[in-house]
Amino acid sequence: MVKIIKDFIPKSNRNRPGNYMKPLYITVHNTANTAKGADAASHAAFVKRSSTGVSWHYTVDDKVIYQHLPLNENGWHAGDGRGTGNMKSIGIEICENADGNFEKAVENAQWLIRQLMTEQSIPLANVVPHKRWSGKQCPRKLLNRWDSFKAGIATAHTSKKATAKPVKSAPTKSTTKPKTPSKKTYNLPSGILKVTKPLTKGSAVKAVQQALAAVYYYPDKKAKNNGIDGYYGAKTANAVKRFQLMHGLVADGIYGPKTKAALEKLLK
Ligand SMILES: [Zn+2]
Repeated sequence: MVKIIKDFIPKSNRNRPGNYMKPLYITVHNTANTAKGADAASHAAFVKRSSTGVSWHYTVDDKVIYQHLPLNENGWHAGDGRGTGNMKSIGIEICENADGNFEKAVENAQWLIRQLMTEQSIPLANVVPHKRWSGKQCPRKLLNRWDSFKAGIATAHTSKKATAKPVKSAPTKSTTKPKTPSKKTYNLPSGILKVTKPLTKGSAVKAVQQALAAVYYYPDKKAKNNGIDGYYGAKTANAVKRFQLMHGLVADGIYGPKTKAALEKLLK
């Protein structure tokens, strides 16, 4: 959880054109400003100046995130004029200030991107470097590790748990939970599962829910048993959708053969 401060560019500024946007992409930048103090707050002040011609949606440093534009408005950050980069992508600048921790800023950006992907239904394939739009060598500190940067987005939400303890831990001798074998197999159904009225329920749904939970896509993390209840409702569909988004599938919240295959691959 990183704090996001909304500090929008004044509507009267020329770098807030106010064109309506439905974001389809997320574009990643580096600020290329290594000066001390060139953090998110200082960039927020910069884009609010009436003389500034460029704009983007978020600046991320090692401590905080500033949002400069609403997500349904475009900014001028991609260098492609009225192309897709400027008109249909959310721009994120990652700070490189000498008095900040760059790797922490990268982690914070990965976290932010994950949130945005889920909220805006943007697939991982559409998280792109600035270079994609204009050829500029940006984000200059991430281009040579772009694949691992993207992989980090996919695992950002599991990082705490995953590092604390491996998923496949050695069996414990405890007899208090006889229902949880050390190496679980999931009888994933072969058919299609989706939200129906009345709700589809049963062991097939439960197997899907358990498999999703095992890879950290809980139907409802706050609910009893993480929402594993055998009903294919909106929350289960949402877990399926989040899973699909992160695995390059059509994110429709409908469980089918492709989702099954992706789940089985992960659970192997
Ligand atoms: Zn850039």
